[in-house]
Amino acid sequence: MPFPVRDALGLSAEQHDFIRLARDFAAAEIRPRARAVDDAQTESPLDLWDKAARTGLAAFMIPAEFGGGGVTDMVTQVLVQQELCHGDIGIGNLLTSSGFFADPVLELGTQAQKERWLRPLTTDTPPLTALAVTEPDHGSDAAGIRTRAVRDGDHYVLSGQKAWISNAPYAQRFVVFATVDPSLRARGVTAFVIDRDTPGLTVGKPM
Ligand SMILES: Cc1cc2nc3c(=O)[nH]c(=O)nc-3n(C[C@H](O)[C@H](O)[C@H](O)COP(=O)(O)OP(=O)(O)OC[C@H]3O[C@@H](n4cnc5c(N)ncnc54)[C@H](O)[C@@H]3O)c2cc1C
Repeated sequence: MPFPVRDALGLSAEQHDFIRLARDFAAAEIRPRARAVDDAQTESPLDLWDKAARTGLAAFMIPAEFGGGGVTDMVTQVLVQQELCHGDIGIGNLLTSSGFFADPVLELGTQAQKERWLRPLTTDTPPLTALAVTEPDHGSDAAGIRTRAVRDGDHYVLSGQKAWISNAPYAQRFVVFATVDPSLRARGVTAFVIDRDTPGLTVGKPM
């Protein structure tokens, strides 16, 4: 089937390869499972996550210097995501969810932090991760979040509640956004990487 818009973008052979990989994976692996996953309401097909990791799809958006596929341009990312979501939107988003976690680490992290938290995402058995911004009373207005980060000696204590966090039931690691001072709005917001077994962290029932 011709794709005139894609042709106009002048994509490279490598970009086409990733898009084809996503299309084939969606047809062979995602679409046959989509109905059953929908009917099960809150089940996530973690075996498909394992398969996507082995094909390189789960880390296609992570820079090559950390072992990922190196597809960092937005156009290709969108086209790959489109193919996966043609299989099923929920599953498509699950399979590329490392990108949610990786982006703030790439934007805000030191080189050592990037090595520590991105490298594991590019192995054959990566951890599932999550990004936690939204709160029960703060969605679009992300600068208004109320989760507090208070410095206590050489560490921070976080207190607050998040909502709508994709992968929360399974994530081994979260990027959590919190504010050191709500009156500062966006300038008070900072981010923390938190492991699932951190004392005090609880995850509620899936929505
Ligand atoms: C399937 C799913 C997965 C999600 N995964 C995550 C996740 O992994 N991590 C995470 O942090 N969050 C996640 N979210 C939350 C998502 O980011 C929020 O739902 C989103 O930010 C919108 O916030 P809200 O639902 O509170 O809507 P609101 O902010 O209350 O907005 C409600 C409506 O008002 C409109 N509106 C809001 N403000 C304005 C304005 N100033 N001017 C005009 N119109 C406005 C909006 O466009 C919308 O139509 C997820 C949500 C869904 C549905």
